[in-house]
Amino acid sequence: MSSTPGPAAAAPSQQISCRNCGATTDFEVTANVLRCAFCGSEQVVAQPSDPNRPTPESILSFVIEEEQARAAYREWLGNGFFRPGDLTKSASLREIRAVFLPFWAFDARANTQWTAMSGRHRTSVRQVQTVVNGQSVLRDQQVQETDWFPASGDHVGQYTWELVSASKGLEQAWVDAIEPFNFGELRAYDGKFLLGRGAEEAALDRAQAEDVARKLIEAKEQSECARLVPGDTHRDLRVSTALEDVAAKMIFLPVWLAAFAYKQKVYRFVVNGQTGKVTGEAPMSYLKVALVVGAVALVVLLIIAIVAMLK
Ligand SMILES: [Zn+2]
Repeated sequence: MSSTPGPAAAAPSQQISCRNCGATTDFEVTANVLRCAFCGSEQVVAQPSDPNRPTPESILSFVIEEEQARAAYREWLGNGFFRPGDLTKSASLREIRAVFLPFWAFDARANTQWTAMSGRHRTSVRQVQTVVNGQSVLRDQQVQETDWFPASGDHVGQYTWELVSASKGLEQAWVDAIEPFNFGELRAYDGKFLLGRGAEEAALDRAQAEDVARKLIEAKEQSECARLVPGDTHRDLRVSTALEDVAAKMIFLPVWLAAFAYKQKVYRFVVNGQTGKVTGEAPMSYLKVALVVGAVALVVLLIIAIVAMLK
């Protein structure tokens, strides 16, 4: 029996584990510099790829190619008032790498039972003592009171595409900043998508990711149930959620990871490989910040001076 290896099988790959940020990334051996694509650290350990690691079910392919990613980076670099004037000219782009980030996508049905104390407001009239012209008098005052009674019920929520990041290299805030991804474009996973790209190994297994998804869904159920409590207000809302028909798939999302150096310091940035949206770190011009702070202080002093003169 012989089998024809596909192009993916033909490309030998190795894993790089970063001692600095903890990300493990798969790369083709052709990658010449052993450097973590996420944090730029060279404190990495190389080893052959684990053939048994879980493969994703679906993948979003790269729409933005390297030239476009570089153009998106240059445009992003030029934006922002507080950046140094010579930034676009002086910043030197270090290597830019295409990497797939692992995510778990959960579908589930949530059955939730809730109990709460429901409150109804009513207005009553109370006599209060006040002092009028030095004399103590009784006066009617309207006060709001709340009657509490127990309430309970249930809620069924259908959840799809609850995303849990399994990336260790890229913090959730960075992922949030380059969203959204268009999941309508997802395709069945095929190793050929990885040619010339890196792929980060999932740092969460399915069970760990399900714990995170469960908390996300429970929080959403909590606010759904809060809306169901009758009355004007409520307190002591207690929610118990059970998940049914939980399905999970691992997906790969495309990003460009890169860093640029400016005045001997390295800044990281990331480009959404589907939309070109950029986020990242950038230096600030202390001169510009000082000028703006100075100008604001001057305006404040002027206002104080004018007000003093008008008195
Ligand atoms: Zn790293």
